[in-house]
Amino acid sequence: MSAARPLPGTEHDAQALWQRELREQFPIVTAHPELAYLDSAATSQKPRAVLEAVQAYLTTSNANAGRGTYPWANRTTELVEGTRERVKAFLGDPEPDRSAVHFTSGTTEGLRTVARDWLVPYLADGDEILVPFADHRANLDPWLEARRLLAERGVDVRVRALPYQAVSGDYDHRSLGEAVGPRTRFVAATHVHHVYGGDMNVHRIRAAVGPDVPICLDAAQSVGHLPVDLGDPALDVDFVVFSGHKAMALPGTGAVWARNARGPVFRPAGWQGTPNTVGIVSLRAALDWLDAAGPDRIARWTAALTTRLTDRLRHLGPYEVLGCPASLAADSALPAAQRRHGIVTFRHRDIPSDDLGFILFSHGFMVRADSLCQAGADDGDGSVRVSLHVYNTAEEVDRLLAVLASLT
Ligand code: PLP
Repeated sequence: MSAARPLPGTEHDAQALWQRELREQFPIVTAHPELAYLDSAATSQKPRAVLEAVQAYLTTSNANAGRGTYPWANRTTELVEGTRERVKAFLGDPEPDRSAVHFTSGTTEGLRTVARDWLVPYLADGDEILVPFADHRANLDPWLEARRLLAERGVDVRVRALPYQAVSGDYDHRSLGEAVGPRTRFVAATHVHHVYGGDMNVHRIRAAVGPDVPICLDAAQSVGHLPVDLGDPALDVDFVVFSGHKAMALPGTGAVWARNARGPVFRPAGWQGTPNTVGIVSLRAALDWLDAAGPDRIARWTAALTTRLTDRLRHLGPYEVLGCPASLAADSALPAAQRRHGIVTFRHRDIPSDDLGFILFSHGFMVRADSLCQAGADDGDGSVRVSLHVYNTAEEVDRLLAVLASLT
């Protein structure tokens, strides 16, 4: 076991008091103290402010958006349009007049929309695109489908893999330069990996491809978990695609933010029919809630819990923590590059993941214990993923560790 560090959870810890107050705002969490929800990478729980915003909207101004001239319809249109601006502000968009926000049901639909409505018309015969083959499937299939659609039209596009280092779960930034060629016209990357939980260092991709190549970022595991600041030169990307439902909003919500500076303007086929007005209302309330809570503070909280879990788990005999090199000295703290943002995936040497998931649930822990939708790699299969958010506590992590330790 690593040396004991102060537990972020004592009465005297201001951060713990702040967290306790936030946790109280999640009715589903406080209603079930015997359970620990450790599957926030799949979807987050919702704070009371979001539930109340939805109820208020449905009981005061529910109507359709973009049609009708009576007050409820106008209010709904304002809410939808205002939420586009809210998304831009939340992401720190430095040029909101040039960018666009398109609402989707989640990251999968968002990435598909970018591929179908923007990438396909943009690419020409002989172009190359660089995409991740070991990230979430949602960030691979749309690009392969785009190539297929183009091939049907006689346009031949080469798909190359972003180089990967299996051990640490990061892109292999040293060989990135070799993957980039004069015809590289687009890169799809991930901000925080959904299996390993690490930051994928997109600034190094920008450095490798140069200033002109559009980059689309799958931010499903970063928006709502840590600050995502488009004003930061290290985040020089052209699309940010995320799931509102993983960031405290209702299921069936998500968005694509498009910078509209490189390549054609993003004009998704669009807003035909009725948008998910209730979901959009919930997204706005969720972003307000997250801003008030402070993404930076949320990130520090989940990072402390994640490090606590990882540092202990990697010293428990039968467990292998994915993306955490076994070569790390047993008593050393996890280096920054190996830190995870709220996600720890591991396997037990002898217990299959579905059995482990069942055992953990019998102790009240809800974890992900089946396929992790990882493309091109079987790491996720046969493993268990614990994903944490601001409503989780050090006590929950310690209880989990005690159960895991009893299975050695
Ligand atoms: N990309 C990543 C990195 C994810 O973790 C997920 C969901 O788990 C997705 C995409 C798909 O998101 P959604 O289910 O909201 O479409």
